[in-house]
Amino acid sequence: MDLTELSVTRLKGVGSKQAEKLARLQIKSVQDVLFHLPLRYQDRTREIAIGNLAVGLEAVFSGIVLNIEVLFHRRRSMICTIGDDTGEITLRFFHFSNQQRDKLRKGTRVSCFGEIRRGRQTLEVVHPEYQVLSDGAAPMTAQTLTPIYPVTEGLHQLAMRKITDQALTHLQNASLAELLTVPATDTTLQEALATVHRPPPSINVEALLQGSHPAVQRLALEELVAHRLSVQRVRDKARLQSAPAIAAPGDLCAKLIESLPFTLTGAQARVIEEIAADLQTPQPMLRLIQGDVGSGKTMVAAAAAAMAVGAGYQVAIMAPTEILAEQHLASFTECFEPLGLNIGWLKGKLGSRQKRDAIEAIAMGHTHIAVGTHALFQRDVEFANLGLTIVDEQHRFGVHQRLSLREKGIENGRVPHQLTMTATPIPRTLAMTAYADLDCSVIDELPPGRQEIKTVAVPNSRRTEVIERVAVAIAEGRQVYWVCTLIEESEVLQARAAEDTVTELVDHMPDVAIAMVHGRMNSADKDQTMHEFKENQVQLLVATTVIEVGVDVPNASLIIIENAERLGLSQLHQLRGRVGRGSVSSSCVLVFESGLSQRAKQRIAIMRETNDGFAIAEKDLELRGAGELLGTRQTGVMQFRIADLMRDKKLLEQARQLSEQVPAENVPALVERWMGDEAPEYGNV
Ligand code: ADP
Ligand code: MG
Repeated sequence: MDLTELSVTRLKGVGSKQAEKLARLQIKSVQDVLFHLPLRYQDRTREIAIGNLAVGLEAVFSGIVLNIEVLFHRRRSMICTIGDDTGEITLRFFHFSNQQRDKLRKGTRVSCFGEIRRGRQTLEVVHPEYQVLSDGAAPMTAQTLTPIYPVTEGLHQLAMRKITDQALTHLQNASLAELLTVPATDTTLQEALATVHRPPPSINVEALLQGSHPAVQRLALEELVAHRLSVQRVRDKARLQSAPAIAAPGDLCAKLIESLPFTLTGAQARVIEEIAADLQTPQPMLRLIQGDVGSGKTMVAAAAAAMAVGAGYQVAIMAPTEILAEQHLASFTECFEPLGLNIGWLKGKLGSRQKRDAIEAIAMGHTHIAVGTHALFQRDVEFANLGLTIVDEQHRFGVHQRLSLREKGIENGRVPHQLTMTATPIPRTLAMTAYADLDCSVIDELPPGRQEIKTVAVPNSRRTEVIERVAVAIAEGRQVYWVCTLIEESEVLQARAAEDTVTELVDHMPDVAIAMVHGRMNSADKDQTMHEFKENQVQLLVATTVIEVGVDVPNASLIIIENAERLGLSQLHQLRGRVGRGSVSSSCVLVFESGLSQRAKQRIAIMRETNDGFAIAEKDLELRGAGELLGTRQTGVMQFRIADLMRDKKLLEQARQLSEQVPAENVPALVERWMGDEAPEYGNV
């Protein structure tokens, strides 16, 4: 049986609705299910005494119900305190039935699983999974590590596990083509998949979690090879294409640079020259600009746009979210309207009249520079003479998406040049793999006079002082970000943590305009809130880690990051970059729970020491070498299914060699298996 042909709808419990949700995750065949790998694992194999529970831990514990009550404060909630010989913990429910309440009577024994959080008096768990043990139920412990899969709205972990169970049964009876011959390994693809989906009780847990287990390494290697091959195809294809040769830099670019109120930094000038050289050749430019937040990438993009427009071509500038696109619209309008250019604006939600006008102006060639979201790349948008596309914050897009963007605007066999920008600096060795399809330019210098962001670390026990500090900043007219972090895939819990924080902050600062953004809001609401923050109608923005990379609110000069110990260095650096964008001096407060691991201490120390994104990326690489339970794959650079560029850097060379030995006829199937269609995912993170 060919598992690539076997549709998921053949699995039990997968009807058309479920199939639709799976399709959103690019899962169509049983093979796709097998290659939909766990993000991480939960350790439910043992019970932890209540006294040993710590904030941030996900754990199984059990106890006797000591007290249960229903409260009617802002929101109705059910509070149940349970205890064992070592301590007490609170279970908090916002959604519950009378039957649930009646079952959790005083004296009942319950077994629970959930993420431990700091509560008002004791530790607490919001909406734990639980079993009432007197019902004869088994405790919440499991024989093996529990895989946690990437899921989508309405598709639960339990359903995902049932689906993978069936796919694994199919795998036992059918074989998957070994498309890659890996020397010196005795792990077959089949064994590796089975192990990663359902780690046997005997497995070396540490090795699995850290990714050094042979099963993980076998799969990571294959993924890296597939990635490399796919990138090569993109590059090969690009080499065959032709692009307009542009006489760059040209007069318009010179005029633009003259009109600036500042002089370019050396790094900006160098990158602009590199772009000019690319544009002069009749092959499409495929260039990536890496530059730390605030390094002045927008100016470089504007210079590139001026070169293309000066030579008579149109330019398209795309950002992944509306708020970022709006920012570009503002900068480009400011730069180019005085020079007599027409700037167009296209986003998903324009009124039909406005949209028609915008599209017509683009088609007629009246618009010189079109700024927008992915709406720019929809079928009904046709450029009269597109010469250059600029894509901001590229790390959100995969290789395949980059390819499809590139194919837009092909005319008479000529493709536009493409410039992409990212604020996620990564070490050179990794850039070669992550961005292998692109030439890289680095803006490694900040404009003069930038104020360093002062970073301090404060234990959560001093939370009241932190809130005081926020109040003072707001009283001085500044704006503040407050970032809540929780373990990644539970958007529901993330949203709830943010809501709780808002409640807490409103209590302390009833007169301050406080708003919230989180991943469960739709993008229109998110954009609206971000907009209000930008316009200073909101002074304090409570956000989960979804807050946009690249959003520019110069008046925001203080950022609080909760549970900083949980985040990787790169993510901390990205978040910190939300402030320090104006002339006032800015600060970042890292709030941490006590009992920091050695590595968490190191991370926090590095954040206090330096503001340099590249230095931080190098340190990140070093510190992650040994891996750590914490977010093993949240590099924020490239989303692989199992490989991690940082962790698996020693596989890169082997992947390069192996990719040259893959028989040509295996390449399409190998790429398809790992990369799928990689449909774009805009807006919602
Ligand atoms: P980013 O790289 O984060 O996108 P921006 O392009 O938004 O950075 O630039 C950040 C700020 O720095 C903007 O206000 C911009 O006008 C300013 N800027 C850019 N280049 C220079 C320069 N060479 N000298 C002084 N200020 C600059
Ligand atoms: Mg920017």
